[in-house]
Amino acid sequence: MPKPRDPHTVAVANGIATDPAYRSVTPPIYLSSTFAFPAYEKAGPYDYTRTANPSRDLLADTLAKLEGGAGAVVVCSGMAAIDVVLSRAPRGGLVIAPHDCYGGTHRLLAARVQCGQIELALVDFHDAQALAAAMARKPALILVETPSNPLMRITDVKAVVAAAKRVGAKVAVDNTFLSPALQRPIQLGADFVVHSTTKFLNGHSDVVGGAVIAAAKDDVEALADWVNTVGVTGAPFDSYMTLRGVRTLFARVERQQANAGAVAAFLKAHRQVRAVYYPGLPSHPGHDIAKAQQAGFGAMLSFEIDGGTEAVRAFVEAVEVFTLAESLGGVESLIAHPATMTHVKMGAEARRVAGIDDSLLRLSVGMEAEADLIAGLEAGFAAARGR
Ligand SMILES: *Cc1c(COP(=O)(O)O)cnc(C)c1O
Repeated sequence: MPKPRDPHTVAVANGIATDPAYRSVTPPIYLSSTFAFPAYEKAGPYDYTRTANPSRDLLADTLAKLEGGAGAVVVCSGMAAIDVVLSRAPRGGLVIAPHDCYGGTHRLLAARVQCGQIELALVDFHDAQALAAAMARKPALILVETPSNPLMRITDVKAVVAAAKRVGAKVAVDNTFLSPALQRPIQLGADFVVHSTTKFLNGHSDVVGGAVIAAAKDDVEALADWVNTVGVTGAPFDSYMTLRGVRTLFARVERQQANAGAVAAFLKAHRQVRAVYYPGLPSHPGHDIAKAQQAGFGAMLSFEIDGGTEAVRAFVEAVEVFTLAESLGGVESLIAHPATMTHVKMGAEARRVAGIDDSLLRLSVGMEAEADLIAGLEAGFAAARGR
């Protein structure tokens, strides 16, 4: 068996120069919905694109190798990825999820409870007693999100896996915020890794997609069967685009997190900033765990600006380089105001409990020049001064 390649090499080279037809260096895109049978009663390697497609399979294979899993399924969104993981829990099985999980995940879990598919315990993973109490209820599946959105709280994946093993539960980690370039949950013991490939993996804000990577072969087979059954597999064009993005994953993430570190230091020292949430700061409560389980601190951070809603408004209207928009992980820098954008549906009281202040702003730091990013933020602060 050949030695597994370094993930840097996998991202760039998986499938390169393997085209049997014309020896194209870049793997071709197969848009065809259907594939000819070589003969009567004889199927070829592919028959129908919902079930399997070469362009999608190459992306799945690349993601499985990057995450160190047995295989992967590529689906049409991050939400579809989470939903197909839920299909691995038995009917009525208990799912434990973080109380501050991604809003779309929260909505999906609630809907699956509503139709009787699962039971749900939303738990503060940083409250050891609450987590232990939920674990004692014999969960089937535990969903982890680390770092969390938007406060970048860090969950110790190894500790959750150890507790899950004791009660026979499987663990799925949403790795969207870091990507396999910075965190590989299967190595920490997770059974599933979930991605919104919309974010860092594609990295260019031009595809909505998702993926699930499983550690065990039988889980991969069950997931592949289910995504074909419900028909949520990803489109070949999107798969091709996403693989194109993955080619530069490491270079993008390395540059973006270097920028994020500089932005965090700038914000930390700024007198109009009340708090900065970035796991790379030694003052961040999850800093040590992040250092142990991550290969870097990522390109996402959030901060609280001085002054109320008026300061927020003035800031986002005047900030330069950062675009006011949802989503994250693209090469371009984005700014979001969780209280009125990503987390608006949570309601004020739930936001208060989760610690999401109205003055909180979230940044997805891109690949622009560091000096321009800082100057862009300074333009926002100048407008917000005295508000
Ligand atoms: C965006 C996101 C999702 C949902 O992914 P979509 O591709 O938008 O469906 C799930 N989890 C996290 C952490 C996300 O950031």
